[in-house]
Amino acid sequence: MANQSELIIELEQKVSAHNYHPLPVVIHTAKGVWIKDIEGKKYLDMLSSYSAINQGHLHPRIVKAAQKQLKKVSLTSRGFYNDQMAPFLKKLTLITGYDKALLMNSGAEAVETAIKAARRWGYLKKGIEPDTAEIIVCNNNFHGRTTTIIGFSSDISNRKGYGPFTPGFITIPFSNKEALEKAINKNTVAFLLEPIQGEAGIQIPYPGYLKDVAEICRINNVLLLVDEIQTGLGRTGKLFCFQHENVKPDIVIIGKALGGGIYPVSGILANNVIMNIAFEPGSHGSTFGGNPLACAIASESIDVIIEEELAMRSEKLGMYFLNRLKLLNLKTVKEVRGKGLFIGIELNEKTGNARPFTERLVKEGVLAKETQKNIIRFAPPLIIKKKEIDWTIKRIEKVLG
Ligand SMILES: *Cc1c(COP(=O)(O)O)cnc(C)c1O
Repeated sequence: MANQSELIIELEQKVSAHNYHPLPVVIHTAKGVWIKDIEGKKYLDMLSSYSAINQGHLHPRIVKAAQKQLKKVSLTSRGFYNDQMAPFLKKLTLITGYDKALLMNSGAEAVETAIKAARRWGYLKKGIEPDTAEIIVCNNNFHGRTTTIIGFSSDISNRKGYGPFTPGFITIPFSNKEALEKAINKNTVAFLLEPIQGEAGIQIPYPGYLKDVAEICRINNVLLLVDEIQTGLGRTGKLFCFQHENVKPDIVIIGKALGGGIYPVSGILANNVIMNIAFEPGSHGSTFGGNPLACAIASESIDVIIEEELAMRSEKLGMYFLNRLKLLNLKTVKEVRGKGLFIGIELNEKTGNARPFTERLVKEGVLAKETQKNIIRFAPPLIIKKKEIDWTIKRIEKVLG
């Protein structure tokens, strides 16, 4: 007889589009860093929903903020004002040092918003000829799944059969400043990048890369757009990954952990020189963007990150985790790399695909997902304790040893 999990998996195969290849675990409940399946088996969450759960599952403070707001009002549309958005944006802009923010729901929508802002800035401020704006992006980028965004993806499985795509994007190698210098021309409005490429397999650029590209952008009057959807909000040991190199992007794109794992909230941050020219009433919008429930949740999510010093925890515990992994000296592993609790284990060519290992990790109670063919990502909630890292290390050693 099939157990309940097997029945659910079978049902999902039947009624859901097969746009994912999930690991065979059916989650029923979760709290903090721990997850339980329908059969009651416990797992440690090493994915955090691709870093959307930096604060841990169902953080009591964020749940409480959501419940409190659910007794008042959830959705107003931006056709009216609500009493949550402005105070939240005041907090967000104060903490991040930008003049304004514009809220959306999913990460991809926030990326689209940044693209629109950069293009309009290019036409109205930089004086580029209509409909000729170019945005430079990096090879192996991941910025979401809309048709415009996948149009500049280099992953064939993201694109196959979904064209034609939006023009105006130029792809260059990541972590290569000369390539950026060469690609810039009179029509370039922006350079869009992830400070660490997460989906590409925790690819960390050379030290100083962000500083270099910020300088190149400044000299050429090109906007620097940094996608911090996965790397931001404490994940790499600072509030934003770009802070490791003391740069100030023109537009910062955030999402994922902004909603504390409870509600989808995303947005962009920028100064008035961009925001005031890029958007006017009617130019852009979203029915759910900036709704009072989202703002109440995001406000508490940010407070938790700051008050629980999650960025600092990420830095310290990430260093500990990374060192422990390196000390295992596993023969199956080519490289262990990371920043904060954003860690990738790249397997040897001889070891082959990561999938059999992530499946064995599930059996051992560790939920980690392969990214690309041969890389396993470890990105637990930032509230994880040292002894829970030790618990995980033992299991990684067993499976990869
Ligand atoms: C997840 C992610 C996105 C897309 O976010 P969605 O909420 O899935 O649309 C964009 N950029 C990066 C770097 C991401 O990790």
